[in-house]
Amino acid sequence: MDDLISRFEALGLAPQKAKEAASNKKIAPVLDNLISATGQTTFSRTIGLLLYALATTAVKDKTPHTDYIARAIASGRIASTEQLTAATKFCSKSDPIADEQAFDEACGVDVVISDETISATVKAALESIKDTLLEQRYRGQGKALRTVMGCPDLRWANLAKVKNEFDVQLLALLGPKDERDSPTALKKAAAKKPAPKATASSLRKGWEPASLESMFAGGDISRLHKPGENPQIYPKLMEMHLKATGGKVITRFPPEPNGYLHIGHAKAINVNFGYAKTHGGVCNLRYDDTNPTAEEQEYVDSILEAVRWLGFEPHQILYSSDYFQQLYELAVKLIERGLAYVCYCTAEDIREQRGGEDNRGERFACPHRDRPISESLVEFQKMREGRYAANTATLRMKMDLEDGNPQMWDLVAYRVMFASHHRTGTEWCIYPTYDFTHCLCDSLENITHSLCTGEFFQSRKSYYWLCDAVEVYKPVQWEYGRLNVTNTVLSKRKLLQLRDEGVISTLDDPRLYTLPALRRRGVPPSAINAFVRELGVTTADTTIDVNRLENHIRDSLNEMAPRIMAAVHPIKVVLENLPEDYLEQIELPYKPRDDSFGVHRVPFTRTLYIDRSDFREVDSPDYYRLAPNKTVGLQGAAHPITCTAIRKAPDGSISELVCRYENTGSHPKPKTFIQWVADCPSLGSPVRLAELRIYNPLFKHSNPMDKSAVPGGWLSDVDRDSLQVVKGAVAELGLWDSIKRYAATEAGKKELDEHNVEGLRFQFMRIGYFTLDKDTALSAAAISEDRVGDARFVVNRIVTLKEDSKKEAVTAA
Ligand code: ATP
Ligand code: MG
Repeated sequence: MDDLISRFEALGLAPQKAKEAASNKKIAPVLDNLISATGQTTFSRTIGLLLYALATTAVKDKTPHTDYIARAIASGRIASTEQLTAATKFCSKSDPIADEQAFDEACGVDVVISDETISATVKAALESIKDTLLEQRYRGQGKALRTVMGCPDLRWANLAKVKNEFDVQLLALLGPKDERDSPTALKKAAAKKPAPKATASSLRKGWEPASLESMFAGGDISRLHKPGENPQIYPKLMEMHLKATGGKVITRFPPEPNGYLHIGHAKAINVNFGYAKTHGGVCNLRYDDTNPTAEEQEYVDSILEAVRWLGFEPHQILYSSDYFQQLYELAVKLIERGLAYVCYCTAEDIREQRGGEDNRGERFACPHRDRPISESLVEFQKMREGRYAANTATLRMKMDLEDGNPQMWDLVAYRVMFASHHRTGTEWCIYPTYDFTHCLCDSLENITHSLCTGEFFQSRKSYYWLCDAVEVYKPVQWEYGRLNVTNTVLSKRKLLQLRDEGVISTLDDPRLYTLPALRRRGVPPSAINAFVRELGVTTADTTIDVNRLENHIRDSLNEMAPRIMAAVHPIKVVLENLPEDYLEQIELPYKPRDDSFGVHRVPFTRTLYIDRSDFREVDSPDYYRLAPNKTVGLQGAAHPITCTAIRKAPDGSISELVCRYENTGSHPKPKTFIQWVADCPSLGSPVRLAELRIYNPLFKHSNPMDKSAVPGGWLSDVDRDSLQVVKGAVAELGLWDSIKRYAATEAGKKELDEHNVEGLRFQFMRIGYFTLDKDTALSAAAISEDRVGDARFVVNRIVTLKEDSKKEAVTAA
C-alpha cells in the first residue's frame, strides 16, 4: 500500500489525494497499470495529473487502448485536457496503433497555435458579432467568449492565452465598464430609455448627481447577507454578535496611515460608509497600523480630514494597534490549539517551501511545523520579550499546504521588528501581519460586512480559517474593484518617487489625484462623490478617463461658482473720449440668468484692461472681437467701444489700445461682448493676481505604465511643462467682493482662522473655474478692513470650461 501511495505521489498528487487513489479499488489498479505502461517512474506534474485524469476516465467509460494514450501522455504528444478528451474519444472508435497519423490529427498532436493566430482569430470572431456586442456590452460577454472558444482555429490553442487575448480585445472594443453596465442602467435600458452617454458632460437641465443609496441598489452588493445570516462555527458566536450590535450593519474603512488617500480611496470610502448608511448602520475608521516603519501621524491626521471632507463622519476612530494585546492572546490560543508554530525559516526559505517565486514548484513543510506546542509557546513568549533579533523568528499559522490557495500555505502571523510605533512606542517588538490582524480586528469590532478590494479575493479563505481557528465571530468579506483614473499614477511609492525626482515638491501638488491634492486644486468633494457614485460598485478594477471626473467637476462648479471677469494677459485700453476722472458704477450679476447668486458693483473708468486674446491687429471676417476700427461690446457696460489706434512700446509690443466709448450717436452693432477690468486704484480695481496656475495632465499618456506606449518607463512620461504659472493677470472687484462674502459665512470664517479661504470657487468668464491656492496670503484683518492690496493672490485653475478647450484657453506668457 505504502509503495502504491508513493508511486501516486510521484505523479504530483497531494499526499491526501494519493492516499485516496491508492485505497480506491477501481482506480488504483488502472492507474498503477498506466504508470507501468509508460515505463517511467518520475513525471512532471502536468503529465502525472493527465495520467490520473486518464485513469478516472478509463474507469468510468471503459476506454480502450489506454496504454497507448498513457505513452502518448508520457512522451508529451498529449499535453492538455482538451487533447486527452479527443484522444479517449478517438480510441473509443478506432485503433490508434493502426492509424497513428489519424490519431495525431484528431488530437492536435504537435499543433502549435501562435500568439498571432490567437490574436487574429479572436479579432475576427469579435468582429463578426461586433454590432450585438456594442449594443449588449458586457452583458454579451459570456456569449462572446463561447463564440471565440468555439472557433475551429483555436481548438488546440492554449485556452488561458485565448481567454487573456479575449479580455484584452473586449476591453479595447467596449472600454472599461461604466454606468451602462451597471444593473440600474440595465434596468433603465430594459425600460427602453436611452442609456446615458458615457463621457458627455452632464451640463444639462434636470441633471442630478447619483445618490449614495443608488450605489447599493443593484448588482451583487445589493444581495449581500443581512446581519445574523452569516454562518458561524457555533451558534453562540452569532448570538453574542447580535447582542453586541443589535442587528445593525457595521462596516469599516481600513487605511494604512502610510500616505495620503487618493481618488481610488474615495470609492472605498463611499462604499464602506455608504453601505452602512444605506442600511441604517455605522462605519468605523480603522487605521491599519501594524507596520511601524511606514506609518506617520501626519498621515493619520490627513486621512481623517479627507474622510470628513468627503462628508463622512466615522462612528468610531480605531487603530489596529488598539488590539495588540488581544491579538497577542489570540495568537497564543492559536498555538495552544496546535494551529501555529514558531518558525526560524528565512523569507527565502519560506518562499521555497511555498513552491518558489511563482508558487508552482513543489510545496513542503519546514522542520518547525511539527515542533511541540509547548515549545512554540515558550519561543513565542521569547519573541515577545525581545530575545530574538529581527528576521530570526516568526510565528506561522499551521494551515493547509495541500490547498490550492496560496493564502492557506502557513502564512506568517507575527514578525519581530524593533521599531518604534506611532502609538504604542516601544511596548512591542513583535507585530502582527495584515493576514493575522485584519480578520480578527473585524471580528472584535463586530463588523458585519468587511468590504475590500479585489486583490484580497484569495484572502477570504485565510480570513475565515483564522476566525474559525480561534473560534471567534466571523464577518463576511466581499470584494469590489479598484478605481483608477487615466493620465496619472496613484500608488504611494510612485508618488514619493515623483517627489524624490523633483517632479513635484509636495504630495498635495494639484496635478496629483490624492485627495489633499484635489482639495487644494479646488475640486469640490461633491464632484468626487458624484463621480464614484455614478460608476457604482463595480467588481472589476477600472481605469476611468479623467475627463469623466472633470465633467463632474464642471457640473458641480456650474452650480456653485460666481462668474467674474478677468484678463489673464491684460492689455491696457484708454477710452479717449472720457474724462480722466470718469467713474460709473455698473451692476453685474454673479451668474447671468440666475438671481439667486445676487449682484455686485464694479467701477467703469477711462482706463480698462482687456485680455490679449480679445484683440487682433490683423482682423478677419470670422473674428468678432476687437480689432483696429472695429466695435465690440463690453460685458455689462452701456455702450460698446471702437478701436481707433494702437500704441506700441519700443520693442514693438502693444502698450495700449486707444478706443472710443460709443456713448453718443450711431455705431456698428457689436457682434459679441468681451470681458474687461477697470483701472480704478482708489476702489481697489483691478485685483492683481500674483500667480495664476494652470495645471495640465502630469502624464502624457493615458496609461503611463503601459510599456509599449511608454518604452522609457512611467517617469519618462512626465510632462515637465504641465504646470504653467502666469504672472500679472488681473480680475474685477467681484473677486474681492466674493471673498468678503464667503469669509462672512460659517465655513469661510473657519477657513480664514486656519489658513485662508479654500472653499470659494469661481469662474473667470470664458477662461475656466478657479480657486485660491493655499499659497495665497490673506488675513482676516485685510478682509475686515477692506484692504485688498494687502492680500497676495495665487489662484489655481481647477478645470477648463469645456472638455476640449484644455490647452488653448490660457497660454503662458
Ligand atoms: P495604495 O496601494 O494605492 O497605496 P492601499 O491598498 O495600500 O493603496 P490602504 O490604505 O490599504 O491602501 O487602503 C484602504 C482601503 O481602501 C482598503 O480597503 C483598500 O482596499 C481600499 N483601496 C485602496 N486603493 C483603492 C482603489 N484604487 N480603489 C478602491 N479602493 C481602494
Ligand atoms: Mg495597503
